[in-house]
Amino acid sequence: STNKMKIEFDSNTNNIGFARVSVAAFLTQLNPTLEEVADVKTAVSEAVTNAVIHGYDKLAGYIELTSVLEEDTITITIVDKGKGIEDVNKAMEPLFTTKSENEHSGMGFMFMQAFMDEVDVKSLVGEGTTVIMKK
Ligand code: ATP
Ligand code: MG
Repeated sequence: STNKMKIEFDSNTNNIGFARVSVAAFLTQLNPTLEEVADVKTAVSEAVTNAVIHGYDKLAGYIELTSVLEEDTITITIVDKGKGIEDVNKAMEPLFTTKSENEHSGMGFMFMQAFMDEVDVKSLVGEGTTVIMKK
């Protein structure tokens, strides 16, 4: 059997912690280790931060987060309707960033891939970005 949760929140840096804690709380049903919880929280933070900072930048918009528990796996989907990514493969390369290197180091996707078992990114310029992560 599966169990699913879905939340939607404004694109606002104040909601990054809310998203991270919500997924962690939902995940406790699987009796995860502390390390697994920490990994998922980090990956969620990175994906939601990207939606806020890059997807919407200073524009207003919503971010939708869905978590599905199935057997002993969690699948997390984070959707923004922001500006989208021109070249997803390039964006996912370690250290690639479109922001100034003082602010951002291009490590977000690297962390998501390191801490989750699967990371899939679909994006269309002008339509937005969907990040699907499994652990
Ligand atoms: P860091 O995560 O280390 O602060 P970063 O955000 O630039 O730096 P990544 O998270 O790896 O690094 O993202 C790489 C690039 O992919 C970003 O610089 C941005 O151009 C693009 N990107 C990532 N997520 C989105 C998104 N949701 N919408 C639009 N562009 C995105
Ligand atoms: Mg990032």
